[in-house]
Amino acid sequence: MKKILALALALVMICATFCVLTSCKDKTEVNENNGETNAPAPKEKLVMATNAYFPPYEFYEGDKIVGVDAEIAQAVANYLNMDLEIKDMEFDTIITAVKEGSADFGMAGMTITEDRLKEVDFSTSYATGVQVVIVADGSPITTVDDLFADGATYKAGVQQGTTGDTYSTWDLGDERVVRYSNGSNAVMALKGGSVDCVIIDNEPAKALVAANSGLKILDTEYANEAYAICVNKENGALLEKINAAIYALTADGTIPAILDKYIAK
Ligand code: GLN
Repeated sequence: MKKILALALALVMICATFCVLTSCKDKTEVNENNGETNAPAPKEKLVMATNAYFPPYEFYEGDKIVGVDAEIAQAVANYLNMDLEIKDMEFDTIITAVKEGSADFGMAGMTITEDRLKEVDFSTSYATGVQVVIVADGSPITTVDDLFADGATYKAGVQQGTTGDTYSTWDLGDERVVRYSNGSNAVMALKGGSVDCVIIDNEPAKALVAANSGLKILDTEYANEAYAICVNKENGALLEKINAAIYALTADGTIPAILDKYIAK
């Protein structure tokens, strides 16, 4: 009996020693990248290109870029176990950055368009947008149709390279469109009288009208759009991962909650 007990004890001790050794081995594993003990392997980084003057999708809070796109991008990066870096640039350089590889993806309330699809691929759409028209209170422009009426000479201010720029250039002609680097500058031009209206996406339009007195948004809509993330055409693997993340983060309520947080219904 004693022998059996001693054998059992010995077995328990061998097991215990083995367990301690294996868990110790995990803990003391040396990270080959930096030679430090206990340091997690560095995560792969995703670089996002945006234009951070487009509230509530992307805007500065202090020196941090926040908003719908910044939060969704962070959730996508977390889902993919990657780090996120956000690079702020002019809106009309985002696609070039993605094509040249200085950014992995572009996210800037960016509308999926035929022309852009020739340059980059787009993810599943995560939000919708509407092009609207901002005018000064008391403006003779009361509907979108007034802008296009025969003989009308009204000028529209737009953000360079946006769909507002493209559509108004088609509909009004180049000479009636004035391009600015962001929506805020276009609104300053409207207030100063150098343009008669600003054509821009509805959510930034609301923020701009709230921040500037004497302006309103026309009730009639100019165009409906779908926003998505753009990725280099050669990077199908990343596009697949982003789409899987958008799918999962929509299903678990993360993306709807971010949209609800920033966009009043
Ligand atoms: N949705 C518009 C576009 O894609 C405007 C985007 C923006 O100004 N950030 O062109």
